[in-house]
Amino acid sequence: MVVAGGGIAGLGAAFALQDLGLEVVVLEREAEAGGRMRSARAWDGIWFDRGAEQLTTTDGFFSLAERLGFADMVIPWMGDTDGGTSFEIARDGKLHTFDAARPQRLLGYGAISLTQKLRLVRMLPTLLGQFRRNGGTSFEPWRAAPIDDMSVEEWLGRISPEFLEYAIEPLWDIVAGSEPRDISRGFLVYTMTAFTRAQGVTLREGTGAVTRAFARHLDVRTGCEVVAIDAAERSITHEDRSTGQTRTLRPRAIVVALTWDRVAGVMSGLDPFRTGFFASTRYQAHDLCFFKVQEGTDPEQVGRSGFIPRKEHGELAQYGMEKVPTDPSRWVLRASLKGRFSTRLVGRSGDELQAEIMRRVGEVAPHIPPLVEDRFVSRWPSAIPMYSVGRLEALARFHALEPIPGLAFAGDYLSMLSCGAAYQTGLWAADQLTRFLS
Ligand SMILES: Cc1cc2nc3c(=O)[nH]c(=O)nc-3n(C[C@H](O)[C@H](O)[C@H](O)COP(=O)(O)OP(=O)(O)OC[C@H]3O[C@@H](n4cnc5c(N)ncnc54)[C@H](O)[C@@H]3O)c2cc1C
Repeated sequence: MVVAGGGIAGLGAAFALQDLGLEVVVLEREAEAGGRMRSARAWDGIWFDRGAEQLTTTDGFFSLAERLGFADMVIPWMGDTDGGTSFEIARDGKLHTFDAARPQRLLGYGAISLTQKLRLVRMLPTLLGQFRRNGGTSFEPWRAAPIDDMSVEEWLGRISPEFLEYAIEPLWDIVAGSEPRDISRGFLVYTMTAFTRAQGVTLREGTGAVTRAFARHLDVRTGCEVVAIDAAERSITHEDRSTGQTRTLRPRAIVVALTWDRVAGVMSGLDPFRTGFFASTRYQAHDLCFFKVQEGTDPEQVGRSGFIPRKEHGELAQYGMEKVPTDPSRWVLRASLKGRFSTRLVGRSGDELQAEIMRRVGEVAPHIPPLVEDRFVSRWPSAIPMYSVGRLEALARFHALEPIPGLAFAGDYLSMLSCGAAYQTGLWAADQLTRFLS
């Protein structure tokens, strides 16, 4: 068996298949497996995530934590044993705590008026209808396809404009880099109804500790770029990136767990629907930017980190001091631009990005830029799948297709924008191929 792509989706599929006694090889283009779930050390040996930072206890790979040896590294998100689901959101220069997972706390949320909070009851029929359609699932957003009919901008703009501007817009810009007009209300409602009990966690050596643990238990060939997969022939050709040599394999089965854009580039022999589906999948750019400030700086004097609504600042998404996720006893300055500005800066250098961010931070907090001494910046031109209107319908159709014999797909774009979802797609792919082989 060959798995193309060593992100959490591919690693999860490979591990499940290997567990059944099958021989599995994972082909990974980069020097290290993990994909968007890799972590790296920066100044003073601090671990920072290059991509995913916050995992949730519902992520299926935690059931393997003891076996794979990462159980003792798991810590609550930012040291918050209350679930790690609350965020500070700015309004009129003040920060207000918004708890995304506890609707009962909304009454105490100071950034929106009581009248606008009361208007939120109009969301209830849609939310309750979706609860019923979910049937207890967490990673099947296409179950919200019946309400994939308008954008969040349009829906919440009618129900409660303040909730849209001072909760959903800043939160989703940080989570997904997407603007409300680019998110389907079906997708928002699915995430609001499917993750009611999730607790935020991370690992002391970054979320990459999970993928590193998987990789240690698997035959992962790094530096191997998959250049062609023929669905009809069931063949896969890869190139050794150091020697340039290519090799074609004809395994019993293939899991295609590549980033979606590569799928369209390397696959041939697919039916028109799948070809169109891959070609129309869209991702949003996203950057993670952490800054080291001068030794001895008091976090309270710099100011706590908050999410910035577009009504407060059109370009800044977040700035301020926050606890280092992998070591909540330390502090770091965090600042980033709204998703659409990250997209504009794709291709510009890290220095230029830092200058663009600090210029805007300096406009609202001039005391901050002179404190910066170092940075850890991780940039992703294609970071997070987009769920615009119509996407859930397309996903529903994709998942209803007859499987291709001996070929299965895995990756976050087939479910949700999270590591838990990507892993789940790996398990689905493994399950599909196991049925084919038996
Ligand atoms: C900045 C950022 C922040 C995020 N924050 C969170 C978060 O807080 N919580 C959360 O749960 N999720 C978060 N995510 C999303 C999460 O990281 C992804 O959903 C998940 O890691 C996707 O896993 P995957 O296996 O589907 O894809 P990937 O991790 O992208 O894996 C695909 C793999 O295929 C390899 N590959 C590509 N082309 C080839 C080729 N031709 N040949 C061989 N190999 C190839 C890639 O190198 C990669 O290793 C974030 C993502 C980003 C970028």
